Amino acid sequence: MLAEARTGKRSPEILRALADRASHELAGASAVELLEWSTQTFPGSVVATQSMANTALTTLIESFAPQIPIVFVDTGYHFEETLETRDRIAARVEVVTISSALTVAEQAERYGADLWSTDPDRCCAMRKVAPLTDLLIGKEAWISGLRRATATTRVDWQPIAYDEAKGVVKISPLLLWTDGDLAAFTSEHDVITNPLLDSGYPSIGCAPCTRQVNPGEDQRAGRWSGFDKTECGIHL
Ligand code: SF4
Repeated sequence: MLAEARTGKRSPEILRALADRASHELAGASAVELLEWSTQTFPGSVVATQSMANTALTTLIESFAPQIPIVFVDTGYHFEETLETRDRIAARVEVVTISSALTVAEQAERYGADLWSTDPDRCCAMRKVAPLTDLLIGKEAWISGLRRATATTRVDWQPIAYDEAKGVVKISPLLLWTDGDLAAFTSEHDVITNPLLDSGYPSIGCAPCTRQVNPGEDQRAGRWSGFDKTECGIHL
């Protein structure tokens, strides 16, 4: 039986200490154990973001923690296939779609067309980071589908950590899953996947900032190709 939803957000000091302790106590915990810990520790105060590439995280939440809301950050620049994947997920579970305060047209009017090509950091900050940060203001915890195996820059990340920038405990139940683990889970369960994954897009972001990768390239080589940029900023 889950505890009742908390009425007030705990302080950064309490949440930081909670994350540090849990990171040690739950070292080696499975994805399901991390989800169950999240629902018990942050009842009514935790959300999960789903990127709509491989949606194994949503499949796990659907089965083991259905009370956790699934959130999709719609930048306005996604591939049609990504939006269709979101719609397929939404036919099974409730998906909360959040977006920038500015429409794409308003952004173009204020900052120039195709900001992604002139200042992608600013574009990501407005279209991805700000909406999620705003959503998390009233939450204590955030679950993401990050995996270490997807980028060499992620090898030091932990399954449970306090996110200083957003003021929440960040839980990454799939962080230690290898590509093989994900493929096995996907084939053994009813996991909805973005068809672009099978068309040369092993990592899928916004359409203007994602290209197909060539054989032998890193799986994130197609993201912000030509820019010295590897993360949108959500996970920094
Ligand atoms: S990935 Fe590209 S289009 Fe999407 S928010 Fe970032 S800069 Fe803008």
